[in-house]
Amino acid sequence: KPNIIWFRRDLRLSDQAAVIAAASEGPVIPVYILDDETPKHRKMGGASRWWLHHSLASLAQRLEEKGSRLILRSGDSAEILANIARQTGAIKIHALRHYEPWWLNAESHLQGALDDECELVLHDGNYLQPAGAITTGSGDPYKIYTPFWKALRETMPPPEPQPVPQQINAPNSWPDGDDLNDWELLPTKPNWATGFAENWKPGEDGARVNLDAFVDIAKQYDEGRNLPSEQLVSRLSPHLHFGEISPNHIWHRVTGKDPAAFKSVETYLKELVWRDYAQNVIYQCPQYGGESYREKMRDLPWRDLNDTDVQADFEAWSQGKTGYPIVDAGMRELWATGWMHNRVRMIASSFLIKHLLIDWREGEKWFWDTLVDADYGSNTVNWQWGAGTGVDSNMFVRIMAPLTQSEKFNAGDYIRKWVPELVNLDDPYIHDPEEHGCRPNSYPTKIIAHKKGRQRALDAYAKVK
Ligand code: FAD
Repeated sequence: KPNIIWFRRDLRLSDQAAVIAAASEGPVIPVYILDDETPKHRKMGGASRWWLHHSLASLAQRLEEKGSRLILRSGDSAEILANIARQTGAIKIHALRHYEPWWLNAESHLQGALDDECELVLHDGNYLQPAGAITTGSGDPYKIYTPFWKALRETMPPPEPQPVPQQINAPNSWPDGDDLNDWELLPTKPNWATGFAENWKPGEDGARVNLDAFVDIAKQYDEGRNLPSEQLVSRLSPHLHFGEISPNHIWHRVTGKDPAAFKSVETYLKELVWRDYAQNVIYQCPQYGGESYREKMRDLPWRDLNDTDVQADFEAWSQGKTGYPIVDAGMRELWATGWMHNRVRMIASSFLIKHLLIDWREGEKWFWDTLVDADYGSNTVNWQWGAGTGVDSNMFVRIMAPLTQSEKFNAGDYIRKWVPELVNLDDPYIHDPEEHGCRPNSYPTKIIAHKKGRQRALDAYAKVK
């Protein structure tokens, strides 16, 4: 009797515990379900759908090379899986664990919908540790990052990554499946994703290419990670989000065999662990994306997006036309490639929340739709961190000065790349052309002066602190 593999955000064959378990037990039916119903308003955004299309195509090809195939279906995951299990007489559904609240719901619906003959078996492997596993001495989950990191580090290194099974046996007959192209995950008119294809190769092979490239420069990460003009970060986030590579694999590859190497790449591993931390936060607070965690911050007098001038500010931010070159470069990189450098994400999000006093949830929504790595845990945790509304930070008053940040982290080349109106400006003028009197007419004036925006944010905060 066959086993089903239920793929979600774990679109790989190597170091994939559900694949290994299913393949070792007999014939296998690999299934991916495009489920826009279960996550409700959290269904995947446009950029993620682009990635998903290519990632599924790549996974299907890998399975075919093993004599298997990927069955595609769309609709309610629990219902569809229960039906496939009934039709095919499957005895187990193997899946990797995920922590988005909608997946936890889907799992419990599925358990209720399955006949007695079939069971859902959940495996770990998308994170260095399962969410909820790292606890304080008194058994409570951590809320703050640094003690979480220290406790998790003690449990490392993770298990060695497992290879792809030699064989994945086909069942006697295959259930029906959809054609990937019929899902229309790719944009048509206008095709906003041409820059995506130039920058990314979704799938396991693409993940390996980025990891290989990063290993050579990993020792420069500590200093290089803040420099958007340089290519000194790993660009693995969408691959990790879609589970095309396991974090265990990355940990082992980056640290190598030499225990002394750990120190030189510790900063990188610490960032990788932010991803685990974010899952722990949404596991403890499933509604993290819905409202500010800190109750008093829910009363912060955000500007109302129904007002036309606020709408215009939001539009200027999202289109990269704020008159702040570093913010505009970041927002245009995001639109063109589906990704933005972390330092610039911090600057651009701070600008929206503080200088424009627009609710962090609006920015989070924009990122959700436009990032190829849009991730419920990482996105909401980072937005709430920046807004000072979250579990771990109450630093609303830490207002980043975009122009100072731009200079400090040498963003000149980055700006010249993404803001063509400023291509002829040299450092240091490029960071603030308006102030230096060299703003080209084609480039917008600042939508708000730094001091004015800063003061308005502080006044708003004074009302709730
Ligand atoms: P590297 O610097 O090479 O880091 C390696 C890996 O560690 C990343 O691939 C990522 O998986 C993880 N990581 C690094 N920093 C963080 C972090 N702060 N939080 C969580 N994980 C981290 N990351 C997402 O994956 N999805 C998101 O939706 C997301 N939204 C963000 C929103 C805001 C406002 C901010 C400030 C950050 C957000 N991040 C998000 C975190 C971070 O910006 C990206 O993970 C990182 O830029 C990805 O590039 P990289 O793979 O080169 O990262």
